Amino acid sequence: MNVHDSEKIAGIFSEAGLQHAGELKEAGVVVLNTCSIREKAEQKFYSELGRLKSLKKKNPDLKIAVAGCIAQQKGNSLFKRFPYVDFVFGPNNIDSVQQWIKTSNGERQAAGGKQSTTHDARRSSALQDNPEYHTKILPMKREGRVRAWVSIMYGCNNFCAYCVVPYTRGRERSRPVEDICHEVRALSQQGYKEITLLGQNVNSYGKNINNSGDLTFLLEKIHEIDGIERIRFVTSHPRDLSERLIDAMRDLPKLCDHLHLPIQSGSDKILTLMNRGYTYAEYRKKIDSLRNAVPDIAVTTDIITGFPGETDADFEMTMNALSEIKYDGIFAFKYSKRPETRALDLPDHVDEQTKSRRLSRILGLQESITFEKNRALEGKIFDILVEGISETNPDTLTGRTSTNKIVNFCGDKGDIGKLIKIKILEAKQHSLFGEKMINVQ
Ligand code: SAM
Ligand code: SF4
Repeated sequence: MNVHDSEKIAGIFSEAGLQHAGELKEAGVVVLNTCSIREKAEQKFYSELGRLKSLKKKNPDLKIAVAGCIAQQKGNSLFKRFPYVDFVFGPNNIDSVQQWIKTSNGERQAAGGKQSTTHDARRSSALQDNPEYHTKILPMKREGRVRAWVSIMYGCNNFCAYCVVPYTRGRERSRPVEDICHEVRALSQQGYKEITLLGQNVNSYGKNINNSGDLTFLLEKIHEIDGIERIRFVTSHPRDLSERLIDAMRDLPKLCDHLHLPIQSGSDKILTLMNRGYTYAEYRKKIDSLRNAVPDIAVTTDIITGFPGETDADFEMTMNALSEIKYDGIFAFKYSKRPETRALDLPDHVDEQTKSRRLSRILGLQESITFEKNRALEGKIFDILVEGISETNPDTLTGRTSTNKIVNFCGDKGDIGKLIKIKILEAKQHSLFGEKMINVQ
């Protein structure tokens, strides 16, 4: 979501005639699009800001903007602590960049022009959340040419006890179906083949707008758009994953065979403390139902280790969940204290060492499960959507299966953007290597 927000910010600069600088030292404006989901991300931002301070000493005309969730949380206080910051805007105010550029001295200098920062901040900073933001279609400078992100909703109402998102991205707002379809049709005309619908809890799409459909309705509408070959959506909340959506995953061929369904913990006690709204048994039932409907579906998840109150026994339940469910991949994190969240006040916080030890056990177990699952794909043939040249080896192309597995293979650049058949020759830990079979246009 943060990466896609950067595409929106870049789009506004681009439309105003500014270009991406090749190197940091050549830039007239630097935007730090921050994440505050865990403390580590926040620390990264502060050290990056320190680097920019010395750059600004050498080049006093350099303008520094802070965007994203830290901007939203800290607002004007960032100017006091870091007087060399020129502009602050939150994730619901990305369109305020247009104003920042316009109110500067002249187009080109735009974001480089002198401005009274504190004054500007009061007018269009993170502190002034923009309720109409969800109905805007902003210009975008997308990174790829084959796959595109599309925001379908903003914010979250769930208030999981550890999570800062409802405080930074605000309450849930869904974009109207027609706006989303309009954007997807434009993407199809530009040649994009795959879209990923984005939201913090996509399963509750549509709940806050009158006379609108739910996520399944939206998916059906997008499915009708010619040229779009694959549709993905993240992130799904287990509590809101409906049978209706599971049926759609079975029945709509363009919907990819992959679901990211964050479990967070395998212990009911911890799930309750987290305010997740499901038990392990309920979660498992949904996975079974999903696998019955789409037998080859890949399932991935998020796990938090060392949430307050997590005992060794609770942790073993999460290990057990991994062994039972056998995910295709996981993202696992140590619990990190976040401002304003309810978990701060919970008793029995877990020490760092225990959190780390549990995290490495989780990652170790998953490594072997992922590898075993990848090995089982050797010799099989898959449709791969070719995305481009591999970042790690310029002699190979890279693409993905419908199940979201990365596949590298030797091919020619003309294959980029096409769906082609690939036979898997070798499984690696985090990717697959294959050979091209026949072209299916
Ligand atoms: N909306 C999604 C959901 O409900 O799972 C994802 C939200 S968050 C951007 C992505 C993941 O970060 C979460 O699933 C959770 O595992 C992790 N996360 C969020 N807050 C955290 C915290 N305070 N400490 C550690 N991990 C956290
Ligand atoms: Fe955070 Fe929970 Fe909302 Fe996901 S569902 S964004 S974890 S509050």
